[in-house]
Amino acid sequence: MRSDVEILVMVNRSDHAVLTPPPVIGVYNMGYTFPPSARASPKFFFRYPTEKIHISQTLYAIVEQRVKNKFCVSGTMKMFDLTMPMDTQIPIFPGDPEPEIIQVASIKENGWNEKQITIGSHFSTHIDAPFHMIKGGKKLDDYPITKFIGMASVIDVKNQKLINPGLDEIEQNDIVFFYTAHINKIRYKEYFQQNPILSLETAQRLIEKKVKIVGLDSFSPDNEPFEIHKLLLKNDILIVENLINLDKLLNSRFMCYILPLKIMDADGAPCRVIGVLT
Ligand SMILES: [Zn+2]
Repeated sequence: MRSDVEILVMVNRSDHAVLTPPPVIGVYNMGYTFPPSARASPKFFFRYPTEKIHISQTLYAIVEQRVKNKFCVSGTMKMFDLTMPMDTQIPIFPGDPEPEIIQVASIKENGWNEKQITIGSHFSTHIDAPFHMIKGGKKLDDYPITKFIGMASVIDVKNQKLINPGLDEIEQNDIVFFYTAHINKIRYKEYFQQNPILSLETAQRLIEKKVKIVGLDSFSPDNEPFEIHKLLLKNDILIVENLINLDKLLNSRFMCYILPLKIMDADGAPCRVIGVLT
């Protein structure tokens, strides 16, 4: 469907959307609904999916029509890859199996290229399932894919040795990432030492808030005896480790896709993590 006016919805850093004047690109929607009360008001707002969007009455009808038609344009999206490149140079947690990526076929020899990849289930950017640390705990394949996709925020905790930030903005079922900047040490041996630790209080508040996934740009939210790991996993909160690029999404709210390899009975698995800012 074409219209004389195209509308661009942008969500700014304070989570309030603004509409640019025409001519612009299009409406991006995730199937939100318009509350009846909004129809009577000269200014409208509705959930997107959790942000308030203010629009003028003139534009309302067009947006409504496009939402009804499930019109969706990706021109306004920005995508961020929060995944480490996977190669054998990535340092491994002490004691984990050495990664091996070897060429086992080539176009010249065989007519095709193929690699054999040997890695631990907690190599590179990956997600931990409860079964990783809890006897009889849930495995990755016990979760529906909805567990791995949702609204996410990045909280700036750079320079906090004990991670203890405010969590007021966090909502139930959110994915919460902590930007520690510890990942900058990935090529140094200190990476597995002096890592920032998630405070017990913060872990408890995340449990109270019923978030579904916690992640950070470090190899672990805690050290032996992994009290924080066990507490989160026991409460059905999965943990993503070795994230990168979190600084690019600081203080924003975005759609996040955490896609682990579909390994049966998995205690954890490497995953591709993508943030989509609309
Ligand atoms: Zn892990």
